[in-house]
Amino acid sequence: MLGTEKPLPRDQYVGEIVRNNLSHPTAQIFVEKYFPPATKAKAEEMVQNIKAELKIRLEKNSWMSEATRKQALNKLDKMQIYVGYPEKWIDSSKVTIKRDDYFGNLIRLNQWQNRRDFDKLGKPVIDELFTGLSQPTEVNAGYNQLGNRIEIPAGILQPPFFDASMDDAVNYCTIGAVIGHEFTHGFDSNGRRFDANGNLKDWWTAEDAQKFEAKANQLVEQYNQYEVLPGLFVNGKLNLTENIADLGGITIAYSALQRQLTNQERSAKIDGYTPDQRCFLAWGQMWKSKWRPELLRQVVLTNPHPPSEFRVIGPLVNLPEFSPTFEIKKGDPMWHDPADQVTIW
Ligand SMILES: [Zn+2]
Repeated sequence: MLGTEKPLPRDQYVGEIVRNNLSHPTAQIFVEKYFPPATKAKAEEMVQNIKAELKIRLEKNSWMSEATRKQALNKLDKMQIYVGYPEKWIDSSKVTIKRDDYFGNLIRLNQWQNRRDFDKLGKPVIDELFTGLSQPTEVNAGYNQLGNRIEIPAGILQPPFFDASMDDAVNYCTIGAVIGHEFTHGFDSNGRRFDANGNLKDWWTAEDAQKFEAKANQLVEQYNQYEVLPGLFVNGKLNLTENIADLGGITIAYSALQRQLTNQERSAKIDGYTPDQRCFLAWGQMWKSKWRPELLRQVVLTNPHPPSEFRVIGPLVNLPEFSPTFEIKKGDPMWHDPADQVTIW
C-alpha cells in the first residue's frame, strides 16, 4: 500500500525497536553525543523570541474580539515549553536486557511498561515529559492540548531543522517556523476548545469563529488547487488546521527574524543570498523529501498534512515579503495575487 519494495535492513529495523522500547536510555546516549548544552541554550533562546513575537502578533490580531484576545494572551503566558529532553528520565534499569534474547527482551519491556501503566490507575496524574511521539530522539515536535505545553525533542534540533552553527536566517525559518507552528495550535480551531489549563472549555466567541473561518476558507480554496499526481489534488479541508499552522509558523518566524537582524546583518549576503532569501530557501530545504506515488496517494487521502512540496509553497505565497525577495512577477508559477493573501496569526 505504501509502494515499499523491500523491508528495512535488519539493523535499522531492530534499531527502531530498541529506540521505541528503551526510549529514554537510548535518548540519554543520543543527547550526550549530539545535543550539547550550548545547542540547547541556543534553541531555548529562539523559543523565547518566537513566543515574544507571537505575543506581539496576538496583541494586534485582526479577527479576535478583545475578550478572546485576553484569553489567548493568558494561554500563551501559561504555555510550558520543553526543549530537548526531560529533566527527569524514566528509569528502566530494572528490566533485564540480555544480549542474546531479543524476543525475551521485548516481552520483559512490554510487561514492565504495562505494569507502570497499571500502577498509575487511581492515582494523581503523573506528567511524564518526552514520551510517545515526542520522545527525545524523535524528529518531530508537538503541542499537547491537555497540558498546554510544547515539547521540542533533541531529535529535531539537528540539521536540516536546526544547526547552532548556522546563521539566524536559516535557523529561524526552519526550526523557528516549526516551533511557531506548534505554538499556534494552542489558539486555532483545536486550541479554542481547551483553556489555559488544558481543560475542555471553548474560549472563542461566535464572532471570532466566523471571522476565522472566512480566512480559513480562502486557504481551503488555495490548497485544493494543488495537483499532487495527475488528477490527484490536495484536500484543503483535511489539511486546513496544519496548513494554518504552517502559515502561522513561517509568518511568526520570519518576523521574529527581522527583529533579530542588526542593520548590518540585514544587508549582508552569505553565498550571494540576502537574509530573506536564505530564510525562504531554508524553509524549502527543510521539507525536502522523496515519496513513492503509492505513499503520496495515501497521504493525500488520510494525512492531516499535505505532501511536503505544498508545505513549502502553500504558506510562502501568502507572505507579502516572499514575491519581492525573489522578484516573482505576475505570470510566474509561484505568483499569488496580494489581494488573495491570507494572514491568520
Ligand atoms: Zn501541526
